[in-house]
Amino acid sequence: MERPDVDELVPPDRTLMGPGPSEVHPRVLRAAGTPLVGHLDPAFVEIMDEVQDLLRYVFRTDNQWTIPVSGTGSASMEAAIGNLTEPGDTVLVPGNGYFGERMAEMVRRAGGDVVTVEAPWGEPLDPADVADAFDQHQPDLFGFVHAETSTGALQPDVPELTGIAHDHDALVIADTVTSLGGVELRVDEWNVDVAYAGPQKCLSCPPGASPLTLSDRAMDKVLTREEPVRSWYLDLSLLQEYWGEERAYHHTAPITNVYALREALRLVAEEGIEARWERHEHVASALKAGVEAMGLALNPEDDYWLPSLNAVRLPEGVDDGAVIDALLDDHGIEVAGGLGDLAGDVLRIGCMGHSARPTNVFALLAGLGDALETQGADVDPDAGLAAARRALAE
Ligand SMILES: *Cc1c(COP(=O)(O)O)cnc(C)c1O
Repeated sequence: MERPDVDELVPPDRTLMGPGPSEVHPRVLRAAGTPLVGHLDPAFVEIMDEVQDLLRYVFRTDNQWTIPVSGTGSASMEAAIGNLTEPGDTVLVPGNGYFGERMAEMVRRAGGDVVTVEAPWGEPLDPADVADAFDQHQPDLFGFVHAETSTGALQPDVPELTGIAHDHDALVIADTVTSLGGVELRVDEWNVDVAYAGPQKCLSCPPGASPLTLSDRAMDKVLTREEPVRSWYLDLSLLQEYWGEERAYHHTAPITNVYALREALRLVAEEGIEARWERHEHVASALKAGVEAMGLALNPEDDYWLPSLNAVRLPEGVDDGAVIDALLDDHGIEVAGGLGDLAGDVLRIGCMGHSARPTNVFALLAGLGDALETQGADVDPDAGLAAARRALAE
């Protein structure tokens, strides 16, 4: 084996406006560059407590069981689903996007039986359909996606959905990966039993330690399971010995990621959670006004527009791959194409965390206008920029 000759790492300068990761705040990058302490060092134990308190603030919850799970959002997702699903449980999941499908797959692997409540991709679930599904299947668990990153649709009516589930004695798991720290989310007030998220979407943090919160009732179900959780790594009954009172070794915490998450959450607390939701809405409104004035349309209806992920319909005949490549190659801007039923029809433009800034919106609109004109689309980029400017002045 020859000795590889690899240059020092110099990543290209990117403006991250895709479905995640978003741009990392400089203070978070700095926190990630600080020296390690041991994962059982009293100083780290204090940091763990601080991170848990900050997570409770951001989730709007008093849940004791609020921790960062080692791994990306899919790890906190699998921790939620894998711990709550016992073999033979019936679990109701949404059929209106890519992440509902992932939920279903995780339920099956945990030994649960999947039943689905349908809605078209790009639309939220209708509470009446959820109620029907409950009457028909009597599920033990109900999972829904608060912010569907694959379609740009926000799930409204969350308290109504949790009410239906609780009337049927079921627990509710919410995917809040693209809503935590970006759009209004109130875990306790909305009676959500379990919520999981990821740090690299609206929290402007590198992926690697992912928020999870469980109510006492949900944790009771986990702690009284007959069969152990199928994943040793994500077994919350073991993890509670590290994140709870005992502070016993389970696995080495991703210390650097916990540092980064702590700083990212500190930034949320500094800004104020409600002010942060408003900033996302304000900046994304400018992006929305800009693409609409340019001559494009958002895919979801305004009632369930998701500020943190804007699914923009492409004009007939425009190749999404060419637009995505032109934005990256000519402007250094990352966006993504559609998935599933929306593949080829939309661009997915994120407006998350530190990326939710006016400068990014102007760069995106200018680059998108260029790329679409090159593709022969009939758009008016100048009108888009002017509309964004007006929206930001409001
Ligand atoms: C990104 C995302 C996930 C998965 O997170 P990873 O960090 O990619 O593992 C799950 N659900 C939603 C809604 C997401 O946007």
